[in-house]
Parts: sequence; structure tokens; C-alpha cells
Amino acid sequence: MAVSSVKNFDIKNLTSFKIGGKISEVFFPENIEEFTQILNENPEIRVFGNLSNTLISSLGYEGKIILTTKMNSVQIDGTRIIADCGVKGPKLSQIACEAGLSGFEFMIGFPGSVGGEIYMNASAHGQSISDNLVSVTCLTQEGKIVKYSKEEMNFEYRKSRCSKDNLIVLQTEFELETKPQAEIKAKMNENLEFRKSHQPLLNLPNCGSIFKNPQNKSAGMLLDSIGAKNFSIGGARVWENHANFIVNNNNGTSTDVLELMFKMYTEVKNKYNIKLSPEIIFLGGADEKENELWQIMKK
Ligand SMILES: Cc1cc2nc3c(=O)[nH]c(=O)nc-3n(C[C@H](O)[C@H](O)[C@H](O)COP(=O)(O)OP(=O)(O)OC[C@H]3O[C@@H](n4cnc5c(N)ncnc54)[C@H](O)[C@@H]3O)c2cc1C
Repeated sequence: MAVSSVKNFDIKNLTSFKIGGKISEVFFPENIEEFTQILNENPEIRVFGNLSNTLISSLGYEGKIILTTKMNSVQIDGTRIIADCGVKGPKLSQIACEAGLSGFEFMIGFPGSVGGEIYMNASAHGQSISDNLVSVTCLTQEGKIVKYSKEEMNFEYRKSRCSKDNLIVLQTEFELETKPQAEIKAKMNENLEFRKSHQPLLNLPNCGSIFKNPQNKSAGMLLDSIGAKNFSIGGARVWENHANFIVNNNNGTSTDVLELMFKMYTEVKNKYNIKLSPEIIFLGGADEKENELWQIMKK
């Protein structure tokens, strides 16, 4: 049976940056069977979760994507949690807390999906998605469903086996630790409080950290030292409290963001001979200038 999709989908309001044009076709599978059927029928399709680490071109994307937002089942079995790829981090953090399970307190403050967090090896507040991971069930490029152990996922800083081997995360399994609920809740509140002062909240549309930290260095500190907090282009500006965040404060476009990133990248390179590498993902293709800027920064 054909899985329903939406053509010519206006994506902007589903992204945490509130930037992006029309996508040719978007699928919203609700279970693994639908998901694998779409992937098998559309081998070139791209998969995204909650679009909180992705800049989509304001000119749109001439291709098909899957959004995993309806893949949101969670099962708890004692200290084990099995979560589908589309479950949102803050929701999983709350569910674990209610069950008296610790290990997901870090997820409370940012809007990623579990699949996106595995792909990016998300971390914060001294915890990471891989800490309590047991296994990840993936669809391989050859169309096979394979369960990988945590060790087989080859986690590195903001990287997992997913990008290298083109793996699609379908489901995840974690083993958590029992703790008093009040202790878990207190840690989640502490994490949320920290974010209020150190990162822009989503009422200022943003995409989290823009560049990865170079080895033994902080991207934010390098950017601060070149005065990036005063940089802005069009409707995008660097956040005044942390130089590694760009906020869309005035109907910014993907070109504004990419040009601003390129200015940040170039000035750090000129001063320190360090090439910052984007942490965010870019989905575009229709604009030559955007692609050129992105390719230079991704090298
Ligand atoms: C305010 C804010 C704060 C943030 N703070 C943090 C932080 O503290 N720590 C941190 O690590 N990140 C942080 N982020 C960034 C972001 O939330 C994470 O990178 C998150 O893991 C992205 O998840 P997503 O579902 O939104 O991914 P998307 O943006 O939808 O996708 C990101 C990448 O993951 C891939 N992907 C998504 N789902 C799947 C899947 N099922 N299978 C295979 N690949 C998939 C996509 O193809 C894409 O390459 C923050 C973002 C915001 C907006």
C-alpha cells in the first residue's frame, strides 16, 4: 500500500531556525514497515528528525525527504527503554524521569529526535546519547535491517557510523539506572536553568551550535575573540551572549545564515589559521552561491 505524502511542502515552520523553502515531497511514516517501504521505493530519499540541527535553503529542496516525527513509540521494560527514532529528546527525558530512570537528563533542554541524536552523537551537561545505549536498529544502504551494538556504532565527537555508512536509525535501545525521581528532576531543572543563561531559547529561532569545537579549542571562544558577537547579515545575527550561535531575528534566509557563517569562518581562519567545521547540516541545492559557501566550509 502506498504511504501518504505531502507534495510541495512548506518546511519553514517545522525547523528550529524557522528558515526553509518548499520540499518536493515529504513522507511521515508511522511505523517501521511504512518507513522501510518508503526507503526501498525511494533510494535517494533523505531522512530528518526534528530539524533542530539542519539549515534548509530558503529556495527549497528539489527532492524527497522523510520526517520521522510520527515514529514516536516508547516502551519501558524495567530499566530498559526502547524508543523509535522520531521520539523527541525532551519527551524521552520526561518519560524516563517519571519511571525513575536516570541517564536522559541532558536531553531535556534541546529539541532533537533520538535518530538525529544518534546520527550527531548529541551530548550536553556531561552526558551523551551513547552513554546508556545498548543497540541501534538501522536500515542499511543495501535495504537490510541490522541491529548494531553501541561499540559497533563507532561514536566520535558529533559523529557516528550513520554518516559514514549511510545508516538510517529506526529504533534505539537503552539501559538506564534507577534513581529517586526527585534527584532526576533536580538535574533536569539544573540543566534547563543553565541553558537559559548560556544558549538562546527557541523563541529566538536557532539551530544550536553552528561550528564544531576544533581539537582542544572552543569555537565560541575563537569566535568571541574576533568580535563575532557584533556580526550580522540580513535577518541573521550572532547571538550577543555566545558567539557560536546564530539567531534568525528578522526573517533571515539561508543565504543570510551561510554568508554570516562564512564571515565567521574566514575571520577565524585569517587570524588563527584554524578552519572551523560546521556542526549543522545544510539541505539545499538550487543556489550556486549557497552551495559554494557550504562546500568551502565543509572541506
Ligand atoms: C536550542 C538548541 C540547543 C541545542 N543544544 C544541543 C546540545 O546541547 N547538544 C547537542 O548535541 N546538540 C544540540 N542541538 C542540536 C540538535 O538538537 C542535535 O544535533 C540533535 O541531535 C538533532 O536532532 P534532530 O532530530 O533535530 O536532527 P535533524 O536536524 O532532523 O537532522 C540532523 C542530522 O541527523 C540525520 N538524521 C535525523 N534522523 C535520522 C535517522 N532516523 N536516521 C539517520 N539519520 C538521521 C539527518 O539526516 C541529519 O543529517 C541544539 C539545537 C537547538 C536548536
